[in-house]
Amino acid sequence: MEAITARDTLRTITTHYIDGVFVESHGREIMDIIRPTNGQVIARVTLGDEEDTRRAIAAAKRAFATFGRTTTEERASYLRRLHEAVSARIGELTAAMVEEYGGVVQFAGPLVQSGANAFLAAEKGLQELPWTRSWGKTTVTLEPVGVAGLITAWNANALFICLKLASAVAAGCTVVIKPSELSSLQTRVLLECLNAAKLPKGIYNVVTGRGDVVGAELVRNPDVAKISFTGSVAVGETIMRDGAATMKRVTLELGGKSPNILLDDADFNKAVPTALGIAFLNSGQACAAGTRLLVPKSRLDAVKRIIREAAHAFTVGEPADPKTAVGPMVSQKQYEHVQSYIHKGIEEGAEVLVGGEGHPPGFEAGYFVKPTVFVNVRNDMTIAQEEIFGPVLCVIAYDTEEDAIRIANDTKYGLHAFVSGTDIQRARRVASQILAGRVAINGMLDDPDAPWGGFKYSGVGREFGRYGIEAFLEPRAILE
Ligand code: NAD
Repeated sequence: MEAITARDTLRTITTHYIDGVFVESHGREIMDIIRPTNGQVIARVTLGDEEDTRRAIAAAKRAFATFGRTTTEERASYLRRLHEAVSARIGELTAAMVEEYGGVVQFAGPLVQSGANAFLAAEKGLQELPWTRSWGKTTVTLEPVGVAGLITAWNANALFICLKLASAVAAGCTVVIKPSELSSLQTRVLLECLNAAKLPKGIYNVVTGRGDVVGAELVRNPDVAKISFTGSVAVGETIMRDGAATMKRVTLELGGKSPNILLDDADFNKAVPTALGIAFLNSGQACAAGTRLLVPKSRLDAVKRIIREAAHAFTVGEPADPKTAVGPMVSQKQYEHVQSYIHKGIEEGAEVLVGGEGHPPGFEAGYFVKPTVFVNVRNDMTIAQEEIFGPVLCVIAYDTEEDAIRIANDTKYGLHAFVSGTDIQRARRVASQILAGRVAINGMLDDPDAPWGGFKYSGVGREFGRYGIEAFLEPRAILE
């Protein structure tokens, strides 16, 4: 097996993982992996093609014949082994994320840990599911859908692979994973962990390659029953449309433009710095980031003052430094994408309270941007409607509670939302009117058993725990 060696040597990855072994790529295209803190090429990856993908699908199909009939006890034991294997290398997985896409260590560490925990959450979900239910002369069993294609985004690639794989294994599905091509080094470390768990061959197969090559083959191949995808709305639409030809089941985890409502009874000295943390999560490259901060008009001046003071804590720097809150963007393209939105915000008449265009001083070499807060933002401005995927927060003033709820829901997205207030009954009442898959009250909260997924353009279906497993199952009723 190829090992990831010293950080200062150029690494090469030329293999995929098919039928329990690392095999040389049939595809010949080579892609550079670039370190986002300084633009240096750190690895060369050989990308897979349709033939590699078809081989992986065939392996998954063969394995499904046996794996699809395993008992829940067997699958629970596989999940525990996967948990142990990933837990053993949390440090290396975190380091690979930090190096490859510039994820800050204070976010990447817990994120990798969540990936390892996903296997235990799936085991718990598996124990809770009603696999067989009978009444009268009817028996309903939950059956795995078949071979699944798992396609991931780069921004939390290891977590997405673990989450999707955990649900699929719990359900009894075999998989072909197409990780983000921007995450090849992280995927390789993760793959070494999965391989160490010594599962029977063919249960999971991994082909690294382009979305429009490897991903597209998974979407159109009739031997793939389901696609579980995390990524952009544009690609999600393509998958839904092209997958229809073979009646694919789909789970689509897409973008967001999450509102964060500060009610007038919130503790602003606490809630505003927390709101900055939620907006700049993963350097702003997070689907759940709370990027629209809705504040009562009467408290706007106080909020601006607290933002100016609190913004100093969001240090830009080397992502490996535990003090760094905001690292670089993943690529030059993403840097330019974020810059274009900051420019657009200024053009449309929003006011830059902190940050602005260009690199932060001293960080010109990499893809660093200035954490930016806009005030005087109207919800119909481009920066308030479109997902920027960088550390850019829009502050929007509202008049009444009803007004806040209306603005929060005036978006095509519905992935996540946040509400802060001291009157918990009132905060719950507001939360219950937000069209989003998750609403967190008073902070950024997580629960591995709670469903994750979006309303509206934020996606189709749910992941996490029992909900994630159900997405890989079909009920079958037998009537006597
Ligand atoms: P992307 O859509 O560009 O790529 C995601 C994956 O899809 C990659 O592996 C890519 O290679 C693949 N792909 C591209 N074209 C394809 C095609 N035609 N067929 C099949 N697969 C194809 O997204 P990205 O830039 O990697 O990630 C950023 C986006 O992901 C943002 O919009 C973000 O909000 C979203 N996201 C959502 C969640 C969530 O849980 N809802 C989590 C993280 C990121």
